[in-house]
Amino acid sequence: MRNGSDVLLRTSPSDYKNKMKVVMEMKVRIDQDVCIECGLCASTCPDVFVLNAGEKASIVECYQNGGSDIGEVGEPLRTCTEDAAGSCPVEAISTR
Ligand code: SF4
Repeated sequence: MRNGSDVLLRTSPSDYKNKMKVVMEMKVRIDQDVCIECGLCASTCPDVFVLNAGEKASIVECYQNGGSDIGEVGEPLRTCTEDAAGSCPVEAISTR
């Protein structure tokens, strides 16, 4: 007969990590076609957003996942990221 601990014991480290990733990480995306390069996101949450001169806002490299406009951040950066999204005057940042 199986119980919950059997399932946990049979979960490989990579499966566990993937399950925790789902719980811990938030996806963030910048619509760079909409970005007006105001810099508010980078000043509100510089750990996640960067605005280099002459470029659209992008995700800090270590949090990128599939491009400079797409990333994933962990729980400690959730509030900061959401605040930055809320500060964007053209609603170019989405989170989920
Ligand atoms: S706050 Fe919005 S418009 Fe301003 S730089 Fe960031 S993404 Fe671009």
